[in-house]
Amino acid sequence: MPSPFDAFPRFSLAHLPTPLGEMTRLRAHLGPASPRLFIKRDDCTGLGGGGNKTRKLEFLVGEALAQGADTIVTTGALQSNHARQTAAAAAAAGFKAVLVLLDMVPYQGQSYRQSGNRLLDDIFGADVRIIPPGADATAFFKSVMAELQAAGAKPYFTPAGGSTVTGSLGYAAAYLEMADELAARGITGAHLIHASSSGGTQAGLIAGRQLRHDGPAIHGINVYRLDTDKMKADIASLAAKTAEHLGLAAPSANVVVLEDGFVGTGYGVPTEGMIEAVELVARTEGILLDPVYTGKGMAGMIALIKRGTFTPDDTLVFLHTGGMPGLFAYEEEFTLP
Ligand SMILES: *Cc1c(COP(=O)(O)O)cnc(C)c1O
Repeated sequence: MPSPFDAFPRFSLAHLPTPLGEMTRLRAHLGPASPRLFIKRDDCTGLGGGGNKTRKLEFLVGEALAQGADTIVTTGALQSNHARQTAAAAAAAGFKAVLVLLDMVPYQGQSYRQSGNRLLDDIFGADVRIIPPGADATAFFKSVMAELQAAGAKPYFTPAGGSTVTGSLGYAAAYLEMADELAARGITGAHLIHASSSGGTQAGLIAGRQLRHDGPAIHGINVYRLDTDKMKADIASLAAKTAEHLGLAAPSANVVVLEDGFVGTGYGVPTEGMIEAVELVARTEGILLDPVYTGKGMAGMIALIKRGTFTPDDTLVFLHTGGMPGLFAYEEEFTLP
C-alpha cells in the first residue's frame, strides 16, 4: 500500500518499528487503581544512543540531502539530546555537524558542562559553539552562519528539537506505527502519554491521528515552558501545518492536551518527582528514563494515575522519547550522600 510519507525524501537512520513492551511490575507497584501500562521504546531508535529526534532526523537529513547541503546546523541546550542525535545523524549521512549550544539551564552540577550528551557531541566529531550566558543569541547565530557561508559550506539549518513541519513527519509516521501495534493487540481507546518540549513530537502525533482517528488519544506532559497556553498554541499551529503538508485536514486546536505542573521551576531543573520516577522505573522495570524529559513525563503520568484520571480498564502507553545520556550530566542528583 502506498504510504503518505513516500512523497518526502527520507534517509534511513532508525531501527523501526521500536519495541512496545508492557510494564506489569510498575503497574503492580502503583496498585489496583492503575490502568494497564505499556511503554513504546523510542529510546531504542538505535542511532547514536537513541531517542525521539532520530525519527525526525530521517526526514530532516532526507531534505538536507535533497537540497545539496553538506553541513547540518542546529541548536539547543548544552545537554541537548537533539544536538547529540543530529551529530550522530550527520556522521552517518556524511555531513559536517555544527551545534550552536545555549548555556541556558540554571543547573550547576559539576558534570553538566562536560559529560552526558556534551561528551557524546565531541565523540561524534561535531563542531560545537557555545553561546555564553547573556550574549545576543541571534547575533551569535548569524555570525556562525556567515562564517560557514564565507568558508564555502552549504549549511542546512534546523531549529531546536528539529521541530519543523519536515521533522514532525517522523512522529506522524510513528503514530501510525503505534496505532497499528495497538490494533494488532486488540487494544482500542488507549491513551498515549509523552514528555513535550519543542512540540514537534506532539504536533506530528496529532497530525498522524488525522490519518487514523481510531488510534490512541494524545496527552503531552509539559516539561519545557512555564506558559502552557503559549506552548499549546505553538503545538496546534505546527500540527495544522504538518497535517497540511501531508494533504490532510487541520486538526482542531482543542485536541492539544498538555498537562501542566511537572516542569518544576524550569526546563532542565531537577524535581523530586523526576528523581522518584527515574528510580522507580529503573527498579521495577530495568528501564532508564532521563532527568530533563522522560523522568518528568513519567512523574506526570504517575500523578495522573494517582489522581484517578484513568480507570483500571484503561490502557496507557508511555512514549519513551530517550535521553538516557543526560543521567550522567545530572549524576549528583542520583548519588547517595
Ligand atoms: C526532545 C525530547 C523530547 C521532547 O520532544 P519535542 O518534540 O521537542 O517536544 C522528549 N524527550 C526527550 C528525551 C527529548 O530529547
